[in-house]
Amino acid sequence: MVKKPFQAESKRLLELMINSIYTQKEIFLRELISNASDAIDKIYYRALTDDAVSFEKDRYAIHIAADKEERTLTLSDTGIGMTKEELENNLGTIAKSGSLAFKNETELKDGHDIIGQFGVGFYAAFMVADVVTVVSKTLDGEQAFKWESNGTDGYTIEPVEKEAVGTDIFLKIKENTEDESFDEYLEEYRLKAIIKKYSDFIRYPIKMNVTEQRPKEDSEGEFEEYKEEQIINSMVPIWRKNKSELTNEDYEQFYQDKHYGFDQPLEHIHLSVDGAVRYNAILFIPENIPFDYYSKEFEKGLELYANGVLIMEKCADLLPDYFSFVKGMVDSEDLSLNISREMLQHDRQLKLIAKNIKSKIKSQLQTLMKNDRDKYEKFYQSFGRQLKFGVYSDFGASKDVLQGLLMFYSSTEKKLVTLSEYVSRMGDEQKYIYYATGESNERIEKLPQAELVADKGYEILYFTEDIDEFAIKMLRSYQDKEFKSVSSADLGIETDEETDTKAENDENKELFNQMKSLLVGKVTDVRVSKRLKTHPVCLAADGEVTIEMEKVLQAMPDNQNVKADKVLEINMNHDVFRALKQAAEHDKEKLELYTNLLYNQALLIEGLPLTDPVGFTDDMCRVMV
Ligand code: ADP
Ligand code: MG
Repeated sequence: MVKKPFQAESKRLLELMINSIYTQKEIFLRELISNASDAIDKIYYRALTDDAVSFEKDRYAIHIAADKEERTLTLSDTGIGMTKEELENNLGTIAKSGSLAFKNETELKDGHDIIGQFGVGFYAAFMVADVVTVVSKTLDGEQAFKWESNGTDGYTIEPVEKEAVGTDIFLKIKENTEDESFDEYLEEYRLKAIIKKYSDFIRYPIKMNVTEQRPKEDSEGEFEEYKEEQIINSMVPIWRKNKSELTNEDYEQFYQDKHYGFDQPLEHIHLSVDGAVRYNAILFIPENIPFDYYSKEFEKGLELYANGVLIMEKCADLLPDYFSFVKGMVDSEDLSLNISREMLQHDRQLKLIAKNIKSKIKSQLQTLMKNDRDKYEKFYQSFGRQLKFGVYSDFGASKDVLQGLLMFYSSTEKKLVTLSEYVSRMGDEQKYIYYATGESNERIEKLPQAELVADKGYEILYFTEDIDEFAIKMLRSYQDKEFKSVSSADLGIETDEETDTKAENDENKELFNQMKSLLVGKVTDVRVSKRLKTHPVCLAADGEVTIEMEKVLQAMPDNQNVKADKVLEINMNHDVFRALKQAAEHDKEKLELYTNLLYNQALLIEGLPLTDPVGFTDDMCRVMV
């Protein structure tokens, strides 16, 4: 028998390919199963035009069997088979794809898409096998042929006996090396897992003899092993099914089967898009935050399938960061894959899909907000923070997408409200959307700074998360209404005393200057307060950096020591003010004592740390005795 060499340069190319295209050896199985599925589909297409051929789906299957002793792995299909010439042309020539040629000649039908296209997948077998033997008999041929190769120096072809139409592929699995184990490709559980992972949605049954246990007859508590042929793959992808045929339980089952999370999905989105790119997708919004969600380890992404075959486990490009909590999969026939089928050739289709998915997720969330507020709030408790990060990041590039999804606790409604709800309640005279920041709603409720705004009957949004104010700064305004902190120097509220403040500040200039010099480096100004009603003092901020922002920035690892320009505001109508005035006239020491006490009180109310707590308590004692 003459050994035929591979076509020119094939040998080198083969080596190169086998060792560099694929990142994981396990995909050889995906490639061989995909070929088998293609071969069966080809019978289906034949039956459409050839009366002599009928296609009874039940007759077709892919069998997989491993023999540990012999170190062989066998794949058998009942597909269309290969003639001698086809064995030679398709397997003997790298980058020659019989399937691509077939696709070009045939009008493909939905549900029977041919997977192959590059003519290299078959060679992946040489990543795990020393020798590959292919025995094949075609639908029309009498004679079967055997093709055999060790992958490096050519192949042989000879006639053999084979009864059934189809193809058997025998892999002589490599011996383990020092740093690589090949035994795993002979292990039932591993083969099952690989099939499930990549080929779960191959249309034809992938059958394997699986070892099971059963109670031994006439014995108590003893078990015996037995072999049972099982279908490993689920075959029909749920995303190809009609939405109307599917129940919530089906989606939940899918969520669990796919290990998207340990929880139940809160919402699912089932998309069948037939536009510029065709794709199906099933997306989930989880009920709970994944345990590693806010850690570095968390990887966003959706599973990406091409024609039901898994291409990528976590395709990050399909999801913007602010929707990184979304789980699920996308299947498309329109992806142009690269040769390893692990990556995409062009990301144009992917970009289109990603854009489409983004807007679908957004509109689903909006619908949820409208129709099931409780559920939306539940979602928001888990992932609202991520939406706010989304508003803030990239200099607000996505704020238009996200602002409608934000919610904050409202002082008047006593629940979470949206920005548009807030604005709809604003009276004509109210210029700003007011907010107050603090550790908790309870704490903000007691903030003296909020008194005037609250007194005016204006609604105040409570910001309790560190990201809140930064996100809002990025928004600047909502429906042309600017945001305003209740602690900002100018509240934009006309009060009766407005005109008097300047006079009062002038009147007390001497006192305020003295206090200012006692608080050098701590506050930039001391002023009469317009916003205080019952409390004696508070801190406000001049300029862009608010006190809450200072707190957040100070807590960051790359603390740049950014400080707010703090202003100590005094309530002139409070008895304390009179005491201050008297002290300023008669007792400088007392003035210093009072000034420090008031400043420290203001810090405490703001939730800022006291620089000298012991000094503060000493001061209190001095007042008491
Ligand atoms: P591709 O699948 O991308 O075409 P492969 O290297 O996987 O490339 O396979 C090369 C060709 O060999 C296929 O196009 C097909 O014509 C043929 N082939 C491979 N496996 C089988 C099989 N099990 N049955 C019939 N034909 C096959
Ligand atoms: Mg192939």
